[in-house]
Amino acid sequence: MSSEPYDVVVAGAGPAGLLTAALVAGRGHRVLLLERDPCPGGLPGGVVRERSTAVNVVIEDERVTGLRHLPQGEPARTVRARCVVDASGGDSPLRRHVAGARGSSGLAVYACFTADTGRAEGPRRFPFGNGWFWTAPAGDGLTQVGAVVRPDLADRVRADPEGALSGFAEACPPVRDLLAGAVRAAGGPGRIRVRPHWSYADHRLWRPGMLLVGDAACAVGAQPLPVLGTHLACRGAGLAARALDGFLRGTADEAEAFAEFEHRYREAYDSVLHDGIPQDGGPHDGILPGEGLHPEGTFPPPPVPFAGAARAGVSR
Ligand SMILES: Cc1cc2nc3c(=O)[nH]c(=O)nc-3n(C[C@H](O)[C@H](O)[C@H](O)COP(=O)(O)OP(=O)(O)OC[C@H]3O[C@@H](n4cnc5c(N)ncnc54)[C@H](O)[C@@H]3O)c2cc1C
Repeated sequence: MSSEPYDVVVAGAGPAGLLTAALVAGRGHRVLLLERDPCPGGLPGGVVRERSTAVNVVIEDERVTGLRHLPQGEPARTVRARCVVDASGGDSPLRRHVAGARGSSGLAVYACFTADTGRAEGPRRFPFGNGWFWTAPAGDGLTQVGAVVRPDLADRVRADPEGALSGFAEACPPVRDLLAGAVRAAGGPGRIRVRPHWSYADHRLWRPGMLLVGDAACAVGAQPLPVLGTHLACRGAGLAARALDGFLRGTADEAEAFAEFEHRYREAYDSVLHDGIPQDGGPHDGILPGEGLHPEGTFPPPPVPFAGAARAGVSR
């Protein structure tokens, strides 16, 4: 038993933080979950402290050893833990201690058109050479049509958003056909919008004593495709819980377990970004238990070679 009061302290009780905390506590580890807002429900086997804002991490000899937090109406406190999980979302105040500049960001350009897909089954996604399109019913007979493209196309998109969007549509036959004869909606819905950092994945998702999970680590953007964002956050939680469990039990070396977490999480990000959620297994396929906690609590051999982690830029 370690001298730290907690094995893991998790900052943020969104989908990523809640699931990570629940999975790790479910394996018998001592978990504290901090949430700056009111937090519905509890954490079986763990402790929840709501209305408490994580403000910084404690670093000793290059290792994260705890968290500074500010309970509402009380002085700041320090809590020590063997590992800190940052799941405090896209505006995390903690992620800078792990990650540098955000990488792989994609740019979105989108607007609503009179093309009517209201009878269709819902949002759809179409890959093309520069990225992918989404189409989604937007009510009143309108369809939102947007392209998410590589960041190196930013200048082209910003210089002429309308020309860029129609050029991308021409390169994507299903969208070209959908828009044939359609016109842009009147007023606000028809305005062409450009959003940078629609999707991103940080280059580093861990350091000794700390993991980034959920939007703090990577995101595929606020998008009309249901469940992609939360699916990815939950995938990250499952992978984080697996790595933490292996490390805390002593069945895995921390660096190897965390590097594998990072590698597989970045693979999941790429896969969700480019292919969406695999339809064959449903949205939760791959989160539990295969990529979550091993039934015996051991750390099974990684299904991908660690050379993959090196390819993904891990060097520690
Ligand atoms: C406008 C919009 C629409 C979206 N629509 C969809 C959709 O339809 N389907 C979908 O799957 N995804 C959608 N997403 C993406 C999805 O919401 C996120 O990917 C997902 O919520 C990420 O979960 P998370 O737990 O990482 O972060 P969050 O859900 O952002 O949770 C972070 C939590 O941390 C807390 N927190 C923040 N800072 C601190 C701190 N300093 N200390 C303590 N707690 C803190 C927050 O209060 C919050 O509870 C959308 C996102 C946006 C922005």
